[in-house]
Parts: sequence; C-alpha cells; structure tokens
Amino acid sequence: MTTAERGSAETTAGADAWTGERLKAADKEYVIHSWSVQGALDPLPVAGGSGSWFWDYEGRRYLDFQSQLVNLNLGHQHPKLVEAIRRQAAELCYIGPGFAERSRAELAEMLAGLTPGDLKMSFFTTGGAAANENAVRLARHVTGRQKIVARYRSYHGATAGAISLTGDPRRWAAEPGMTGVVRMLDPYTYRCPAGHPDPCPVCTGGPHLEEILQYENPATVAAVIVEPVTGTNGLLYPPDGYLRSLREVCDKYGILLIFDEVMAGFGRTGEWFACDHWGVVPDILTTAKGLNSGYVPLGAMTVSERISGWLRDNMFWGGLTYAGHPLACASGVASLRIMQEERVVDNARLMGERLGAGLAALAERHPSIGDIRGRGLFYGVELVTDRATREPLVPFNGKGQAALPVTRLLKAAMKRGLYLTANFNVLRLTPPLIIQEQEIDLALEVLDDVLTLAD
Ligand code: PLP
Repeated sequence: MTTAERGSAETTAGADAWTGERLKAADKEYVIHSWSVQGALDPLPVAGGSGSWFWDYEGRRYLDFQSQLVNLNLGHQHPKLVEAIRRQAAELCYIGPGFAERSRAELAEMLAGLTPGDLKMSFFTTGGAAANENAVRLARHVTGRQKIVARYRSYHGATAGAISLTGDPRRWAAEPGMTGVVRMLDPYTYRCPAGHPDPCPVCTGGPHLEEILQYENPATVAAVIVEPVTGTNGLLYPPDGYLRSLREVCDKYGILLIFDEVMAGFGRTGEWFACDHWGVVPDILTTAKGLNSGYVPLGAMTVSERISGWLRDNMFWGGLTYAGHPLACASGVASLRIMQEERVVDNARLMGERLGAGLAALAERHPSIGDIRGRGLFYGVELVTDRATREPLVPFNGKGQAALPVTRLLKAAMKRGLYLTANFNVLRLTPPLIIQEQEIDLALEVLDDVLTLAD
C-alpha cells in the first residue's frame, strides 16, 4: 500500500457491507488467535449477541453456556452496561493514571465495600495476568522475600511472570521463565494426586504446604498464590478447611496469601467471591472478568489494610498506561450496580441449583459422567470411560483432536445451538449469571442428547 493509499477512505470504506464470508477470509489472513496453530482454525463469524445468546451471519443462534471466556457474567449487550460506557465515553474517554478520576475512585471504593475482610485499596490493570504480575511483585517488596508458591493445576495468565506462576502445560513454551516459583500439588479429591484416601496431606492443604516450606526455607517465601476454586484446569473445589489451613500456615511464617479470583470472583460460584464460601480472607485478591463483565479490558489487585498502610509510606513499583482506564472503570461501576440491583448473585445461586439437580439426573442415565463439581454457575462435569476405574474419557487416540470423543460431543452441542467447551475430559458449564430457567433446561436437554456420544 502506498502512503497515499493508506490515507484514503477507499481502503476503509464498506465496513457495513461485511458478510460472514468476507469476515472469515480477513480473519484467516490477518488475525493471530490465542493458543492456536493458525492454519488449523475455522472460527465462527459472529454477528451479534444479546443476553445469554449470540448469533452468526446466517442468523443461527447459540446459547452461550461459557459466558465466552467466563467473563460475560451479565451476558451480551446488557443495555444498562452499554449505556454506562456510552455515557463515560461522552464525558471523558481517557485521563492518565496520575490524576484522580471519578469512575476509578468510585470503583475502588465499591470494591473496598464488596470484597471480604479488610481488603481495601485497589490497583486497576488491563486484565487478570497484569493483576497477578503486580500482586507478586508487591508481595516481594512488602515481605523483602523472593519465592512464590503456586500450584500445578493453575492458570494465572499469559504474561511473562503470570505464565511462570501458571502450573499447567501452557507454561512450557515460556520456560525457564521467572525465577523463584515453587510448586505444590492440588486438592483434586476425585483424583487425589498423592493417591491417599481422604483426607490426605495434599487435599488438606496446610500439611503439604508446610512440608514444602521446610525444604524451601519459609523465611525466603513471599507469597502463596492459589485460585480458591480452580477454573480452567478442571473446576476443582477444595475440601472444607483447605483454604483456612493454607491461611494458618501462611500466618505462621509471615507469608502473604494471594487469591486469584479472576475467573471465580463476582458471583460466579453463587457468592460474591469464591473464598466467601469458606470465610477465608487473602492479603491480596486479584480479579478481572466478572469485575465489569468483560465489556472493556479490566483487572484489579485489591490489598489488605496492612498492605494499604505499607503503600502509604513506600514506593509502588508498578504502572500501566491504561491503569484505571475510565471506560473500563465506568463499566465496572455499572456492572457491580447492576449485579446489586438485579440480584444477580442470587440468580447464579438459584440457577446453579437447577443446573446441579439437572446434571445429577443426567448422571443416572449417562455412565460417562464420572464426577460433577460445582456451585453457583461454575460447574465441571468430568467424563470417564469407566466409573469404577475413573479412566478419563479423553486419552489421545492417534487420530488427532477432531476425532476425540469430547471434541465430537462439543461439536454436536454446537450444531444443536449450545456453545460450551472442555478442559481435556472436563466439560465446563459456566453460563452468564443472568441466565433463566428455560435456558438452563434447554442446555440440559441438549446435553442429554450429546452425552450419548460419550457413553
Ligand atoms: N487467572 C485466572 C484464574 C484466569 O482464569 C485467567 C484467565 O482465564 C487469568 C488469570 C488471566 O487473565 P487475563 O487473560 O485477563 O490476563
């Protein structure tokens, strides 16, 4: 393209004339998609969405039983949320992070009220990974220590530090990565990693952490970071007492506890925060996704009263051009207000009960259902070839991803207008928190059909 052509309106004209085919072609040629071999992709061209549904250019509608990346908690195009962004855009799209700005201050104040315990001041980022990066760096500065304990079945984001904290194989391509990360095992009670009957030291939490600390020297450990309920790595709920025992061990050695609630926070589990189920408060809470329902990129690191005090007298070594972006913060304020006004957390709890009961009924008919884990609208259904041995459904069969039984099941569901995804052999059921009874029932009906492919 010549310099003259670049500036010409000709090259940008016709934006309204995009068809599904034109979109597919441009996407294939020019867009790099996350975590993919680009040539193997065939993404659906999406034309729009509303509530729990989105549709393609042919007008086919799909029930979004994922909330996209588990972030569209208020569903697609919530009118009040769209209007709040519009209003902020008309008033002030951007002002640097060094200024005091209303939507930023208001959101931080709301978070101090909504988050558990004495969590108080917030630093706003552009997403979950950046919130975790800042949490870890701050923990190191506050404690003067370097090591961070993180779990294997965890995902904390894709930036340099966050991917090093991540335990799952997405980390491998970034290795050796950030130094000082020490791993612990997860409380995966259905497949206890230590192979013990419950309660084992790993699934209890504290004893396993304590042993690791003895080898690492607890005086060198700044923080322990966990997802209170593990999201992308299989929807794992810790046994009662697990988080509390981590809290006690951290307190014993002056180690900070970081809860990554980027996915589980803001009503997803039927409480405002997943840690509320067990009444355990972290020193640092990281959030994103449901914080503003994903309408504008946003994340947050919210810190305890003690760390807030520390920050008043010490340098915070962190910053982003878009820290506390007014459009993002205004959407956060609006999103939290909508959640309160429309009693969205109550709806998540109620619809979750309906979903849980429906899944339990499906388990009676489908032997491929090995385990159902969930609260609120944060459910995992683990598929097996044999309930007695718990052999996972997904073993690689040599014919490629497309031939895997779970992939076939997901494709069949999509054909029936139900969008959901899986982590290996665990189906992820995470619809918008505003979903209605008949939509839950519709999803259960489709699941009943497609699960026959796995039985
Ligand atoms: N932490 C958890 C628990 C997540 O699920 C994710 C994303 O899925 C992240 C962090 C990273 O967030 P982001 O993609 O906004 O950087």
